[in-house]
Amino acid sequence: MTYRSSKVFVPLLFAALFFTACAPSAQSEVNRTDFVLGTVCTVRLIDGGTNKTTDEVFARLRQIEDRMSANKDGTEIAAVNANAGIKPVAVSPDTFFVISKALEYAKLTNGAFDPTVGPLVKLWGIGTDGAKIPAQKDITATLKLIDYRKVELNASAKTVFLPVKGMRLDLGAIAKGYAADEVDSILAKHKVKAAVIDLGGNVMVFGKKKDGSLWRVGIQNPDSSRGEYIGLVTGPEMTVVTSGIYERFFMQDGKRYHHILSTSNGYPVDNGLVSVSIITHSSIDADALSTSVFALGLKNGMELIKSLKDVYAVFIDSANRVYLSPGANKIFTLTSKDFTLSE
Ligand code: ADP
Ligand code: MG
Repeated sequence: MTYRSSKVFVPLLFAALFFTACAPSAQSEVNRTDFVLGTVCTVRLIDGGTNKTTDEVFARLRQIEDRMSANKDGTEIAAVNANAGIKPVAVSPDTFFVISKALEYAKLTNGAFDPTVGPLVKLWGIGTDGAKIPAQKDITATLKLIDYRKVELNASAKTVFLPVKGMRLDLGAIAKGYAADEVDSILAKHKVKAAVIDLGGNVMVFGKKKDGSLWRVGIQNPDSSRGEYIGLVTGPEMTVVTSGIYERFFMQDGKRYHHILSTSNGYPVDNGLVSVSIITHSSIDADALSTSVFALGLKNGMELIKSLKDVYAVFIDSANRVYLSPGANKIFTLTSKDFTLSE
């Protein structure tokens, strides 16, 4: 059995509570929710914008899905994958940019984050009805196909080539972040002054609220499937992106098999972390980093965050301990008594 949990409910629920109480002009708000990019996406315009704005936003989200999904026929990524070992494929500047970014993060994490993880994602099928623990020999064979250093990009022709048959790109760990940044740009173009963008829990709050108060975004309780949060991130415009073991998983013999996969052993990453949230300004970076840092684990992940400017992280481990990167204590408040802050 496969679960698709409700990380997405946190900000929605919270936004609902919060804006009901605080939005000065609730009747002028424009909200739209749709299933796109494999998840529930909500765009809530608090100040400025019309239904036309949200139409443009959702058309753009569909376009990104139609270009970048690895699980759909006819996308650019599907074409790149189908031509692995055969020939380079020209892609849109969008897709080229996202692949390039993904490869940067692969380099930065020595391949713990790797967009060529596709064959392994397919083998496990986590999030699909066919999810199962694969045979060890299949995992071993599949791991041989994963290597970001082999991806050949041609920047002038905007082509992508996977040189070995069976290689597959998967942008699942980064595409929603890119999409959130694109929504942000569309809203800026339409002079929207304040908005909440929530792409399946990949949250961006944009502009200034009319009453001048700061945004508050909930960090989901990883133990709960009901959208409870363990604490709040408070700040001016920001993006908050979480990767967790509760997002997509299946259970077998009492063990949880989740969707962030180790590129070294081919199994779901098992390092004691249950979720990592990244708080920064660029959502593509936050999305890539949430998965990267989760895969690296607490120690190496914390080192990576410390090396970056203007990026904060909230780690939660399986013993309900919460670890904050330097400076994150200024923006994060723990509200659940079931969790403890650790040094
Ligand atoms: P979500 O998409 O649920 O918000 P993530 O951003 O953490 O969560 O992305 C998880 C997805 O990334 C997986 O479903 C899979 O498609 C892909 N993925 C899994 N393991 C890795 C990895 N080690 N490196 C890069 N991408 C991965
Ligand atoms: Mg991610």
